[in-house]
Amino acid sequence: MIPRLKPTIGWNELKSALSPGAEDEVQLFENAFAAHMNQKYAVAFPYGRTGLLLLLQALGFENQEIICPAYTCVVVAHAIALSGNSPVFIDCETRGFNMDLEKVEKAITPSTGAIIATSLFGYPVDLDRLDAIRKRHPKVVIIQDCAHSFAAEWKGRPVQIEGEAALFGLNISKLLTSIFGGMVTTDNPELFAKLKTLRDERLQPAGISKNLRNLIYFCSVFPTFWGPFYGIVNRIERSGLIDHFVRYYDEETIDMPMDSSTTMSTVGARVGRANLERYHIIIENRRAAAAYYFDHLADRRPFLLPPKVEGGTYSHFVVQVENRNLWLKRALRRKLQLGWLIEYNIPEMKAYGSHPPETFPTAAHYARTTINLPVWGGRELAREVVSILSEDAAYA
Ligand SMILES: *Cc1c(COP(=O)(O)O)cnc(C)c1O
Repeated sequence: MIPRLKPTIGWNELKSALSPGAEDEVQLFENAFAAHMNQKYAVAFPYGRTGLLLLLQALGFENQEIICPAYTCVVVAHAIALSGNSPVFIDCETRGFNMDLEKVEKAITPSTGAIIATSLFGYPVDLDRLDAIRKRHPKVVIIQDCAHSFAAEWKGRPVQIEGEAALFGLNISKLLTSIFGGMVTTDNPELFAKLKTLRDERLQPAGISKNLRNLIYFCSVFPTFWGPFYGIVNRIERSGLIDHFVRYYDEETIDMPMDSSTTMSTVGARVGRANLERYHIIIENRRAAAAYYFDHLADRRPFLLPPKVEGGTYSHFVVQVENRNLWLKRALRRKLQLGWLIEYNIPEMKAYGSHPPETFPTAAHYARTTINLPVWGGRELAREVVSILSEDAAYA
């Protein structure tokens, strides 16, 4: 069985998880992370969403409007709401998955605090148009959500350095992982100091029990994603076992996970620092897989391919297909697991007003038609995936 996602982890990460760490593991990881992202500072959090929540508060926002995509991970909207501000949702552009920057500019009001510029699925946000918005609205703060876009570049400019701060997610399904975790990077020393102080005031230090829980979870990840075993795991997926690994939100409630009030564990930080050494290979693999898909799937029904954008890092290779469930089942019969990632349009959720799909038509459409092909294994894996798909008469 080919899994739809697989963390790039191995012996080094396991060894790091099991070895006794130094007191300042988290800080060592922060320093290494900042250096990799070409930023002066990084602050680690138990989840990306905790980082965003505290970042909005460190920026002094209260009762402000925070502009964010309608089509993004729902935890972003949760963090905004729980920070004491309101999300203002923006529909996607029609030629890509990122939010429509023209609509972003129109949504700016005197109460707008920030724009969460998101490079979804690793597609770089258009920095030229973002720059133009910044010039016209210098008071509005730009926060880059780079949870999917490690190393993504717009015409050679890394997206994470264009703005006041950037947010990264580091759970097991992200490009890089610290088991759980998130990072906020910035070049602004005052913001860094404020954010760090706020984190140290609000979060309890992770104790032995959190470290132990993270370690057990991490050790159980290895067999879960191991090829021969994954088929079995997949069969019982809907029974709820793997749910534990991938579930991250609840439609009805705006909340945070139980352990988001304690800092990143030292076990997590050690794994993250070891994983960072694979950074370039991870990105290369994804780019190579995407290049193969672009070359071999173009113009082949039923999949509608995304536009090819220079500088993308492809956290996910996302295509559109009508009848998504049918295609998922067909692939599964051939031991290929395709997945979907963001299968909702946030404003349609009850917690965010149950807006009808027509209000955000493009996001609503993506939420219903996107499917993603595995990218974790580079060109070789992409070739295998294309060959499996081609066996299907309905496809070929
Ligand atoms: C994963 C993710 C985050 C952060 O998620 P956490 O689970 O809180 O670490 C933020 N934005 C996007 C788009 C994401 O996919």
